[in-house]
Amino acid sequence: MVLKEQKISKTVKRTILLNPGPSSTTETVKASLIQDDICHREEEFAKIVRDVCDDLVKVVHGKDDYTAVLFAGSGTINIDVAISSLVPDGKKALVINNGAYSQRAVDVCNFCRIPVVDLKFDILDLPDLAKVENALKENPDVAVVYVVHQETGTGLCNPLKEIGAIAHKYNAVLVSDTTSTYGIIPMNVYDDNIDFCMASSQKGLNAFTGVSFLIGKTSEIEKTKTYKARSYYTNLWRQYDYFKKNKQLHFTPPVQIIYSLQQAIKEHFAEGEQAKYKRFMDGFKAVREEMTKLGFQDILPVEKQTGLVVSIKYPKDPKFDFGKIHDFLYKNGVTIYPGKIADLDTFRVCNLGCLTAQDIRDAFKVLADALKECGVATPVKY
Ligand SMILES: *Cc1c(COP(=O)(O)O)cnc(C)c1O
Repeated sequence: MVLKEQKISKTVKRTILLNPGPSSTTETVKASLIQDDICHREEEFAKIVRDVCDDLVKVVHGKDDYTAVLFAGSGTINIDVAISSLVPDGKKALVINNGAYSQRAVDVCNFCRIPVVDLKFDILDLPDLAKVENALKENPDVAVVYVVHQETGTGLCNPLKEIGAIAHKYNAVLVSDTTSTYGIIPMNVYDDNIDFCMASSQKGLNAFTGVSFLIGKTSEIEKTKTYKARSYYTNLWRQYDYFKKNKQLHFTPPVQIIYSLQQAIKEHFAEGEQAKYKRFMDGFKAVREEMTKLGFQDILPVEKQTGLVVSIKYPKDPKFDFGKIHDFLYKNGVTIYPGKIADLDTFRVCNLGCLTAQDIRDAFKVLADALKECGVATPVKY
């Protein structure tokens, strides 16, 4: 008998991550990382991958006509895959550019030498839909309209459904970067006009970094069969086609991460879409109440925000030192994150993990202590 048992147990701290991913995970998701060593080519594991892919489609209410395609990597791999695989030669992408993540899509177009209509809007404003429509009228060779659902740098929420409808009117495919909203904000690929959406294991599903996925209309993926592949590894058709034919992934996946993703999806469905969304909105309410008590101001009006990322302005107090405040919080189990806006000093409170409103209130108590420690008077001044 060669089989021996190994007992593994370890105590870890439950930290409160308020950074834009990776997000806080449950105890059960953490424990699900520990599995028997297994080769990913075994049918036992390949079946788990297929089940995970099916469930990822169900999270956004897709049926048989949508497919999830997995890649090993952080969320940015999806942007590479989508842009390099979905725009055929001779056609263009149109990017609705109102934040750091849509700018990343423009950068990927430039890296891939794909012509791009870079439709810039103020990062604190929703896109002007008439301008989107005009740009499509003027550029009939646009194959892909690309929009970021939540600009995670600011918390701005772009209108997917409306932009999808305009894209479809001009026969373009709607690709949405839903990395920071998928699994939290209820979405329906049919009602929201989504041809492609994308996310990663470490964001709203609250698993670990390592797997990213695109969910797309199967007929649109099939159309790309004849497109020239611009990349060997990050090509959507190649990954999709291999998986379809062989019923397993082409290249070595992060095995343990996929186990934990499966567990996280189970917990997602057990909590329920509406209950989960309500938990996050309760968290948003807690962020707003607690920051207001301390005198902090955010950069966007509530109605433009998803509620998952709050971008807070640095107060006008020479004693406010983000580095020191971050370090104080970190020592006490809370992580906050710098802003991502070039000419405005901000920090972010991102509510993306398995946290409750009480966790958020606890984190703000530590923030109040940090401000006191640094000598910043509250309520803070602007
Ligand atoms: C997190 C995120 C990504 C991916 O970032 P990685 O660091 O590569 O995981 C892409 N788009 C949005 C909107 C995000 O929030």
